[in-house]
Amino acid sequence: MSEQIYDIIVVGGGPAGLTAAIYARRAGKRVLVIEKQTFGGQITFSPKVENIPGFFSVSGNEFAEQLVEQALGQGAEVELAEVKSIRDGEVKTVVTEDGEFYTRALILASGARHRTLGLPGEEKWIGEGISFCAVCDGAFYQGRTVAVIGGGNSALQEAILLCEQSEKVYVVQNLDDLTGEQQLRDQLYARTNAEVITGCVVDALLGEKELNGIRIRRTADGSTRDLAIDGLFVAIGLIPQNDAFRNIVELDQRGYADADESCLTGTPGVFVAGDCRAKSVRQVTTAAADGAVAAIAACSYLEKAE
Ligand SMILES: Cc1cc2nc3c(=O)[nH]c(=O)nc-3n(C[C@H](O)[C@H](O)[C@H](O)COP(=O)(O)OP(=O)(O)OC[C@H]3O[C@@H](n4cnc5c(N)ncnc54)[C@H](O)[C@@H]3O)c2cc1C
Repeated sequence: MSEQIYDIIVVGGGPAGLTAAIYARRAGKRVLVIEKQTFGGQITFSPKVENIPGFFSVSGNEFAEQLVEQALGQGAEVELAEVKSIRDGEVKTVVTEDGEFYTRALILASGARHRTLGLPGEEKWIGEGISFCAVCDGAFYQGRTVAVIGGGNSALQEAILLCEQSEKVYVVQNLDDLTGEQQLRDQLYARTNAEVITGCVVDALLGEKELNGIRIRRTADGSTRDLAIDGLFVAIGLIPQNDAFRNIVELDQRGYADADESCLTGTPGVFVAGDCRAKSVRQVTTAAADGAVAAIAACSYLEKAE
């Protein structure tokens, strides 16, 4: 616990939060980044990333390490703790299980996590056969067979993209119809290498060392079928990690924090950056861009307040 007042506290040590810290430090602000789990955020789940400018190919962990080193090298302070709540005021109080921290401006960069299937063994294959992002990982399944779980817009977009390079794409939806937009459904049905299976849930992940199949079950009659696949893309929604901030920022229906172009929320001095913000593209590049914008806006807020 610290009695000092920081200029900026950043909640979340993913690409958005660490970029914000780098920018704020370069503007001479006293910055603390509070991270509950893994500095680097979601990207640490990815063994191979090939769409971060400047890195031809890099593991998520290696990228995260460099980002953390850069933030520390710029003089950002870090704390491993979960932020449980925030009290607003001219000086804002950030409450963690390890005590309270005080700051004049706040950047929320708590990210999101992908909804998982909740099946045994799932955790160990995330990033090693199970992916949540066709833009990120689709290229690894060129000429191979994959399955997409879900039937909404995201799932259909993932499936259409995967059809361009994979040999076969199964789309497995629990409801009796796909729920994504008609235009996307038409595009998917036009692909000769897509097979849409509705009314089925995934019962099991198959494989020993590698994921090589899924067992699906028709909910109407309980019948099962095994699909041989090389990769599984789960697109059943994202869960923004904003619950602890409900009292301080406005959240949309899905739980994302609303902010303007400068990443400012409706609460003076509280900014939001990265995947936890209401927006359409959630990638490392867009998270980093938000981090930079939020930090610059927070610095200007502090300077005006002085
Ligand atoms: C398997 C996988 C592969 C991916 N591949 C790519 C790719 O190839 N290219 C690409 O551009 N993007 C990829 N992404 C997406 C990318 O990782 C995210 O868009 C990016 O990490 C978002 O950054 P962020 O900082 O906004 O959020 P996050 O990375 O989610 O970081 C938020 C951090 O905040 C922490 N946090 C949350 N709540 C609290 C709290 N209450 N207190 C303290 N800390 C908290 C979390 O622990 C987390 O570390 C991938 C994602 C996954 C899961």
